Order: sequence, then C-alpha cells, then structure tokens
Amino acid sequence: MSTSTPSRSAFERTLKGACDRLGYSDAMFRLLASAAREIKVDIPILRDNGELAVFTGYRVQHQNARGPYKGGLRYHSSVDIDEVRGLASLMTLKTALVDIPLGGGKGGIECNPRELSPRELERLTRKFVQRIHREIGPETDIMAPDVGTNAQTMGWIYSEYGAIHALQPAVVTGKPLSLGGSPGRDKATGYGVALTIQAYAAHTKTKLEHKTAAIQGFGNVGHHAALCLKEMGVKIVAVSDSRGTIHCKDGIDIDRVMAKKKEFGRFDEMPGYELKEPAAVLELPCDYLIPAALGDAIHAGNAHKVKAAVIVEGANGPCTLDADRILGERKIPIIPDILANAGGVIVSYFEWVQNLQRHGWDLEKVDAELARTLKKAAHAVFEHAEDQKISLREACYDISVMRVKEALDATGF
Ligand code: NAD
Repeated sequence: MSTSTPSRSAFERTLKGACDRLGYSDAMFRLLASAAREIKVDIPILRDNGELAVFTGYRVQHQNARGPYKGGLRYHSSVDIDEVRGLASLMTLKTALVDIPLGGGKGGIECNPRELSPRELERLTRKFVQRIHREIGPETDIMAPDVGTNAQTMGWIYSEYGAIHALQPAVVTGKPLSLGGSPGRDKATGYGVALTIQAYAAHTKTKLEHKTAAIQGFGNVGHHAALCLKEMGVKIVAVSDSRGTIHCKDGIDIDRVMAKKKEFGRFDEMPGYELKEPAAVLELPCDYLIPAALGDAIHAGNAHKVKAAVIVEGANGPCTLDADRILGERKIPIIPDILANAGGVIVSYFEWVQNLQRHGWDLEKVDAELARTLKKAAHAVFEHAEDQKISLREACYDISVMRVKEALDATGF
C-alpha cells in the first residue's frame, strides 16, 4: 500500500495555526516543528542467494519532553526521511493529546518486505538494531509495529537488543504475547476508532443503532474497526481494499467477507453484494466514512464527492489540507487521526507499563482503561472545539501543543 503521510507543510501550517492561537513565539514554533534527532543508517545484509544488498534505515526522535520517544517502525518502499519526520511529529502530538507520559518518534526502512524472505527480514531487522541500539531502550526510545512490520519483527528487535544489552521486554511494544505483549494490542487501533465514534455520538446526542459506516482499508485498523462498530449497532455498508470495494446497503457480514478474502486473496462475488472500484468506498452515502488505508486518500479531486455525514481518520493523514478546507466548507466534520487512531499507542503504553511492572493485565482491564483514556481525550477535544469555534483538528493541535510546551517550560531550557 502507499503510505504517504500529511506533507510537512500541512503539518507545519496546522502547527503554526495552533501556535498563533495560543500566542507562542516563533522560536517555540520552530522547536515544536523540528525533530530533536534524526538518525540515518546503511543496513548491509546478505540475501539468501549470497548477494550483498544495502538498505537505508531511519529513526527520527521528535520530542521527549513528556517521556521517552515512542513510535512505530515501517517497512515500505516509500519510506524516506520526510515521511518518517512527518510521522514522528504526529506521534508527539498523539501521545500528548491522549495524555500518556511518552514523546514522539518514528522509524522506517526503505524496502519492499514482500520481496524479502522471512530470514532476510530477520537479518535486516537485527542489523538495524545493531546500528541504532545505543539510541533506543525502554527509557529512551520504544519502537512498535507499523505498516510492513508486525509482532514477529518486534520479537527480533527484543531478541537482538537483549543480546547486546540485557533482555528488557519494554524496549518494544506490539510484541508476541509470549514475550510480554499485551492482550488487546492487535485490535486496539480499530477499537479506538469505534470508541471515538461512540464518544462523538454521545457528545452530539446521537444514537449509534442503525447508523451506517463505510471503511476504506480492510487491514488491521479497518477490519477491527468494522467488527467493533458492528458490536455497537452500526451497520457496515461497504469495505474496500487496494483492489475493490464491496458494498451492500443492508449491511455486510464482516466475518463472511473476511473468510472469502482469506480464501481468494481479494473480495469476491457474493450474492446480494456489489463489487466496485477501490475508490468507490469514498463516495457512498453513509453516516461515518473511515479512511483506514492510505495517506492523502481524500484530496481536492474527490472531497466534493464525499457523501458521508462525518469522516473518521483511521489512517495517518488520509485528508490533505485541500480536503480539510473543502470538507470544512461543506460542514462535514473530520475526527482527526491523532485522536481517532490513538488506540494503538495507548495500548502500547499499557504494554510498556506491564513490562516495567513485570505484571500482566487481563483483556478486560486493557479494554476498560483504553476506553477511559480515549473517551476522556475525545470529550476534551469536542468541548474545546465548541468553546473556541474551531475545527476538531485545530482543537486536537491546541491541546497537544499546550501540553508539550508546558512540559518543555517545566524542564527549563
Ligand atoms: P494494513 O497494512 O494492515 O492494512 C492496510 C489496508 O489498506 C489493506 O487492506 C490494503 O489492502 C488497503 N489498501 C491499500 N491501498 C488501498 C486503496 N487504494 N484503497 C483501499 N484500500 C487500500 O495497515 P494498518 O495497520 O491497518 O494501517 C492502516 C493505516 O492506519 C496506516 O495509515 C497506518 O499508519 C495507520 N495506523 C495504524 C495503526 C495500527 O496500530 N496498525 C495505528 C495508528 C495508525
């Protein structure tokens, strides 16, 4: 999948707006806009056929005033320093918005993981850790899975870091359960999307029963969001992946569609369901449109075709600045990424806490704490937006930036 993220200029313009509203100096804006440290390394490995291949890896540590740097590790051919920078700064805002004691960082390796064998991926991951091990650690910088990486990747990081230092489970989150992973981490981002919608419905005094949702992307986030929303009474009328959209006005049977997708590797003809183009999902009438796949999926060219009542950003940066403006003019609210998809980093934080305490929580506790943390953040955003008559994105940025600045001021310069 393409992984583009909001352009640097979009992030900086939104950040500048928040700094201006809050009366912060230009120096503070520059400090918040730039990363504390950027690491770039060459990663040479031997391919299975004995040939040498050299990859480029990045780790951007954006801000740690509120706690250790925290953020995913992405394996994708689109990874470059700009993309990693953009994602790292979003992590700083996200952790501040949901008020967990962590900062923001992000990493990536420019590669196509589908073209590498499991053993090659393992060598690549271990070599990357050998290159950056002095800069990461449970109290320094904690990685997690992102696009193209998974629990297995985190297991290799845990093992390699442990071979160089000592075995410390808290050095990564999103690990396999057998290495100290947390129950509920897999579904956390999708569940968080559903919880945010529930909080918005409560705030706007709307009932979720019989509301409809269309979801772009049927991966970790999209699939779990669909299952959780269905449990809350929402009818899922469409889901899409990179090859097509499957649509049924009367509601989709998520488990059946998933089983078919597993069998055929794509959505397949099913009686009563229509198969459409991948982009069709964005133009269907529904109450909640959840882009949970690509960056920049909704843009100047298609924002005027959106027929949803509310957009909920499951992906990072799915709406461009132009789309933001057009949807704003059309009075279609956007629940922003740093709130809507924060469930993953919240449960990553719980995993880190459990590892440090050497004490595991059960799923019930993880789910309850996630719901409490996310709903508290969501209501603060909705109220701030209403009080200040600003968009939900502007409200998110205001709250995050205030918290980061408060911590920076408290540490002194
Ligand atoms: P994933 O790789 O599991 O799934 C991505 C899905 O998007 C796949 O179903 C893929 O087929 C689909 N897709 C790709 N191109 C598409 C297109 N043109 N149209 C429709 N669908 C398309 O990834 P994920 O973990 O679900 O992440 C999705 C997004 O959410 C990314 O932007 C990621 O950064 C963000 N995110 C993920 C997490 C997490 O915990 N997984 C947390 C926060 C944010």
